[in-house]
Amino acid sequence: MSDFQKDNVALMCDIGELVGLFDFEAGLDAFLTKAVSTVAWHMRAAVCSIYLYEAETQELVLRANQGLNPALVGRLRLKNGEGIAGMTLKEMRPICEAKATDNPYFKHIPGSQEERFVSFLAVPILRKMNPVGVIAVQDPQWNYFTPNDIQALQVIASQLAGVIENAHLLLRLRGNEPVPPVVPPESFGVEFGPGTHCVRGQGASDGMVMGLSTRIGQYLSVDEKVVGGCPIGLTEADFDRALATTERQLLDLQRRLEDKIHDAASMIFGAHVLMLKDEAFSGEIRSQIREGKNPWEAILNEVRHYADLFAHSPNPSLREKVLDVEDLGHRLLHNLSAPALESTGPDYTGQIIIAKELLPSDILKLSAEGAAGLVLLGGGQHSHVAILAKALQIPLVIVSDQRLLHLPEKTPLLLDAKEGQVVIRPGHEAIQTMKDIIRSLADSERMADQVKTETRTRDGTEIQLLANLNLVSELDVALRVKARGIGLYRTEFPFIVRSTFPTEEEQYQVYKRVLERMQGSPVVFRTLDIGGDKVLSYFQVGQESNPFLGLRALRFSLKNPEIFKQQLRALLRAAHGNPQAKIMFPMVASLDEFLEARILVRVCQQELEREGIPNRMPELGMMIELPSAVAMIDELAATADFLSIGSNDLIQYLLAVDRTNDDMASWFAPHHPAVLRALNFIVKAAENAGKAVSLCGNLGSDLRMLPFLLGIGLRSFSLDSMEIPVVQRRIGQIDLELARTQAKKMLSLGRIEEVDGFLKIINAAG
Ligand code: PEP
Ligand code: MG
Repeated sequence: MSDFQKDNVALMCDIGELVGLFDFEAGLDAFLTKAVSTVAWHMRAAVCSIYLYEAETQELVLRANQGLNPALVGRLRLKNGEGIAGMTLKEMRPICEAKATDNPYFKHIPGSQEERFVSFLAVPILRKMNPVGVIAVQDPQWNYFTPNDIQALQVIASQLAGVIENAHLLLRLRGNEPVPPVVPPESFGVEFGPGTHCVRGQGASDGMVMGLSTRIGQYLSVDEKVVGGCPIGLTEADFDRALATTERQLLDLQRRLEDKIHDAASMIFGAHVLMLKDEAFSGEIRSQIREGKNPWEAILNEVRHYADLFAHSPNPSLREKVLDVEDLGHRLLHNLSAPALESTGPDYTGQIIIAKELLPSDILKLSAEGAAGLVLLGGGQHSHVAILAKALQIPLVIVSDQRLLHLPEKTPLLLDAKEGQVVIRPGHEAIQTMKDIIRSLADSERMADQVKTETRTRDGTEIQLLANLNLVSELDVALRVKARGIGLYRTEFPFIVRSTFPTEEEQYQVYKRVLERMQGSPVVFRTLDIGGDKVLSYFQVGQESNPFLGLRALRFSLKNPEIFKQQLRALLRAAHGNPQAKIMFPMVASLDEFLEARILVRVCQQELEREGIPNRMPELGMMIELPSAVAMIDELAATADFLSIGSNDLIQYLLAVDRTNDDMASWFAPHHPAVLRALNFIVKAAENAGKAVSLCGNLGSDLRMLPFLLGIGLRSFSLDSMEIPVVQRRIGQIDLELARTQAKKMLSLGRIEEVDGFLKIINAAG
């Protein structure tokens, strides 16, 4: 059996087309009907059906169909677990049968005329692992559906899930939830006075930038969010033009985002497009215009109405959409007032965004929209937000002074993300300093181009410098600084910034691309490290009063085997033909956990073998970042293929110091004797077991600690790419023999203060 004439690639690439099919006015059923015919056509399947899950009755209802008796639509109901479709939903996995009647759950539906169809493939439609429905295809040919078809249908199911959920949410809004009165934001006034003033905060990424302030997340206000004020004499035709321009811009942004950061993009502007297409939204604006309102005012009224509804909704996923509504309003007003400026260009070019809090996906959107810098007011001191801003090269400063929220719009700001400063109305002197700093940043850029392929100590020992990777877009920098491979790919970032789980196929494509670009150099894929400060907006793990000690990393994956297995399958497939691919588990707390994870990898491999899908078993390693792992290090080193020290978490958990709390920074002491001894213990255990060991936390770029790290025997580090040039230069100054003696001395010291003093002496000597 072959895929001859099937067009799954076109089907998968056509996600935009499917979403584009959604026309709110025509309703969800019309959309589903178009979807079944598109799927049936591309897959060359005789039948395609979509069932939606009804939470009240806990039944699947056939909502759209092509190829069966049309009278069944809306009438055919299946209990959860009933028939192959019901079983697909119950077990939350695809079921593919060469001959449907061989499946013990096959249920004959009288009047369906499905006797003619032999092959059956059903895939669950899930949102945040919650049931949404089932999509099924059938065909008269025996054994007609291939593993390729299963994957294609899974991609489609995940896209359908997003559209269906958004449609449901909007419909629920139509029911007009009661709107609580809006409490106007209290005005604290701006007391910065004339001249230049500076607000100090925490620099969360690098870079320096100047721009005009733009506040978001406060709802649009008539007087401020204007591009040249409220124009007069606008008509309904102007509104229609603005609507069409906005849609074009959004689709273009989506496309550009996919090109730039395709591992994370998903349908990031999907909610915007749906709102635009919602006739209740545009229709209400139109009717206000017909009643005599200026289109400007009509848009503002409707945007505020929706923003209020979303903001006060008990549904958390609706509350998260406030920024989307506001952004949409901003775009509509811009396109209404400045049609001459119509461009596909970004909306926030040259602007510094001030927000109370942002989701990772907001940062992605703002980056796509050209934001020059970000200022977050508290509540956002999560390192994943910082890591993401870094990955996207957007300067970010986190401040606690709430008065910044009340700055007049378009105030000139200078953002110094390295020092954590926001300079308001910078004067000549501040601008001059900025220029000097930007010049020195350019020097370090030049240094990146001068980096050597091999890193050696003064006495000629080779040290491996690999790169840490969060988003695929960072590969350019990693290659530019000649990283010897990727020592840590934090695979959770593509999950964190998206609005839905990526499918196995989507993950596979991303992993394959990373391996292709690294051209044979090692790539260590760390499996999901969700939890702690890295939350998925679309998958709640429940309230945890102490998330860093909760369902995090490998614990999360083992607790959610369906999610974990999809990732493992994608990794095993990507490793095929790529012997340099490795898998690493984060936060392993016991030998038992590592063994359990390894069994799951083997199960996935057997599944792939059975399905005839090419794969390869890579080396399996683990991160050492918990005190319990240090205590068990001999057994762990004997069992794993390689080890990597996660110093960020190791220090956090060993010293009980929150790594994300800036107020605790002075307690976060990498030179604490307990940390030094733990590191030495780990490296010696790896040497004894004959296993490779590397260090992938920020400690690797702590220049003053490098003599110690080399002295205890570490020969491999994985770093943020931009740190590689300066670390390479420092390593070139270190003599290994001397470093060994210095490390030995440091291990004998019992006080933090003593170690600190010793570090000062050895680093002053160079
Ligand atoms: C670490 O903990 O040191 C590490 C590299 O992992 P992450 O920063 O992603 O927790
Ligand atoms: Mg860690």
